[in-house]
Amino acid sequence: MLIQSVSQLIGHTPLIDLQIDIPNHSHIYAKLEMFNPGGSIKDRLGQYMIQDGIDRGKINDSTTIIEPTAGNTGIGVALTTQQHGLRTILVVPEKFSFEKQQLMKALGAELINTPSELGIKGAIKKARDIAANIENSYVPMQFENPANPAAYYHTLAPELIEDLGQPITAFVAGAGSGGTFAGIAKYLKEQNSATQTIVVEPEGSILNGGPAHPHRTEGIGVEFVPPFFKEVQIDQTLTIPDQAAFSQVKQLARTQGLFVGSSSGAALAASLQVAERLPQNSRIVTVFPDSSERYMSEHIYD
Ligand code: PMP
Repeated sequence: MLIQSVSQLIGHTPLIDLQIDIPNHSHIYAKLEMFNPGGSIKDRLGQYMIQDGIDRGKINDSTTIIEPTAGNTGIGVALTTQQHGLRTILVVPEKFSFEKQQLMKALGAELINTPSELGIKGAIKKARDIAANIENSYVPMQFENPANPAAYYHTLAPELIEDLGQPITAFVAGAGSGGTFAGIAKYLKEQNSATQTIVVEPEGSILNGGPAHPHRTEGIGVEFVPPFFKEVQIDQTLTIPDQAAFSQVKQLARTQGLFVGSSSGAALAASLQVAERLPQNSRIVTVFPDSSERYMSEHIYD
């Protein structure tokens, strides 16, 4: 394959039919988003949101891009803004992994850290404050930009239908901004209203009514209900403890040769729970958003 730019490598990731013990002879298929060039599902989002900003006249040659992020969105945004030569400032709560922060800087982005205790809300506020002081700046704001779910509605969701070629019994995905879940769930329900949609959060996230507290599972978990959830049917919300997510991360490396991050571990733990209550021979589709290699400093395999 001859290419001219890494942007050509975004999307069309493989869907793996996991060869593990699954209740009721069902199958779990996982979209391997680590195979995007920036190493996560968020490369799709960065490319889509920046193009959307250009198309809507919000971004020109001298616009400064500012975005609050847990890291993967920052890498995805920087991968695209680099191609357009746009100054990029990423606002990241300091708790998020060292590797992701290094990669954002390597791509040429400027990084601003906010205190971990202030959570993602602290980073959102800081990004808005910075933007107010920079002329011709644009904040894509993944947490409320309709281009976020649209990125997945138009790319990843149709790929799932095409990759599998058979009806999907259930779709399971974690939520951070909620864009992945909302965009894909909406598309799949339109294609087949019988497909069940299950959203996954770690303990310490508020979707199931639990109190907010810190968790080790990185990339998923919400401090507020994502606005995108208003437009999509959610059939079930599963709360997965950190320990269950990390246990699946280790199993996937040991038995499948797959190096996935903790949000993928949570997605698998949830998919296995769903398989227990679904009929025999169900087809459960999930998303593995990134690789464990960006969490080595957090001792993901210890
Ligand atoms: N997993 C990882 C590793 C992530 O970085 C993110 C995004 N924060 C998600 C899952 C959740 O994706 P979304 O923001 O689309 O809900």
